[in-house]
Amino acid sequence: MTIRIFPKLEIPQTIAAGPGPGNTDPRILDAFANAGLADHMHGDVLRGMVESKIMLRQLWGTKNVHTFGVAGTGWSGLDTIFSAILPGDTVVAFTNGTFSGIDGLTLRIKAATREELAANALDPKPASVTIIDVPHGQPVTGEIVEAALKEHKPKWAFMAHWETGSGIINDISGFSEACQKYGAMGLVDAVSSLGVEDFAIDDYPGVSAWASCPQKGLCCLPLTYAPVSFRDDYIETLRTNGAYSFVHNPIFEARHWGIIDGQDVEKGTYHRTHSAYAVAAFHESLRLALNEGIDNRAKAYRSHEAVLREAVSLLGCDVTSTMSSLVVLNLPQQLAGREMELVQNCRGRNFGIWPTLSSPVQVRIGLLNLTNAKAVSQIIRLFAQAIEELGGDGKHEEIEALLDRHYGSKDNA
Ligand SMILES: *Cc1c(COP(=O)(O)O)cnc(C)c1O
Repeated sequence: MTIRIFPKLEIPQTIAAGPGPGNTDPRILDAFANAGLADHMHGDVLRGMVESKIMLRQLWGTKNVHTFGVAGTGWSGLDTIFSAILPGDTVVAFTNGTFSGIDGLTLRIKAATREELAANALDPKPASVTIIDVPHGQPVTGEIVEAALKEHKPKWAFMAHWETGSGIINDISGFSEACQKYGAMGLVDAVSSLGVEDFAIDDYPGVSAWASCPQKGLCCLPLTYAPVSFRDDYIETLRTNGAYSFVHNPIFEARHWGIIDGQDVEKGTYHRTHSAYAVAAFHESLRLALNEGIDNRAKAYRSHEAVLREAVSLLGCDVTSTMSSLVVLNLPQQLAGREMELVQNCRGRNFGIWPTLSSPVQVRIGLLNLTNAKAVSQIIRLFAQAIEELGGDGKHEEIEALLDRHYGSKDNA
């Protein structure tokens, strides 16, 4: 048999202008590459984990002791916050797009009895789980949550904070209030909002557990940590009833981050192998976010999103999203149906924009780690060019005038 060895893999620089991942900041990549140690029980690595935990609590505005990172991506953090859901548990999940839809599937898998799982192993429909499906492009409102929790009075309730599939912001205050009113423990997918939106966990006491990811608002892709945070009521439930997981059980996981028996301790103890490289990168991403200030970050996203929104509207697109890190749009009428072609053309040029991943087909342009005049101007010009390429009007002069008006002539060159 011949052995196949491929040429060294080279991956080009791109403008990652999608819903996520965003391009990782070079300072974070430096921290990753310059960590000089493989020993995950070394004092400096353990100290880095404790410091990260403390910085994460500040960034996320919470006193929750059980606040730390789960190795992996967004789904790893989400799997951890769903770990306390046991077969037969009652759940109401609000879904309004690709990602909350997958969260709903996870919840159905976790809450299914053995018989219910065997009946439809990959897509179970347990009697104890109610999925309230809100159409793509519409928000989950406080009224929707209130009505469903009043009717079903579940043990657990779930919602995505920002649904990245359609770029829609859901009503987190209404969700938290309804959870408190009807005694449900709230679970929130905050994968897209952490590090982008200025909000504090402790303002939403109805939410018992939150999960995010490394590669969106924290700009820390080199497979690092998915932040999670748990209120004490969640941890109590978990302590009483258990979870069918060692690795994603928050009580076990928290130990390595120096959280034992509900208390901060000086040094973590072994739970699983951690990467010193990942810890160094995660630590640096939290330092950068806190240095910039979450309020400043949120403001920058809002103002640059407004420019991008105005520009694509000028090009005849219809923007349907409300998130500040992402614009989701319908192409001008005469180009409808050619979304995939446009996205492929852009990607072929290392301008990485995305289609929606579930119907209806729309185009998504993101701003993660791209909140500066130069990057946004480049995105707008490349998008105008792509519209023109399909036979639409790139409105060159009007676009230049718009950029000039918002950014001045020297900054956007
Ligand atoms: C990106 C995303 C996920 C999935 O995260 P991965 O990092 O791909 O595992 C889940 N939920 C939301 C809202 C997301 O935006």
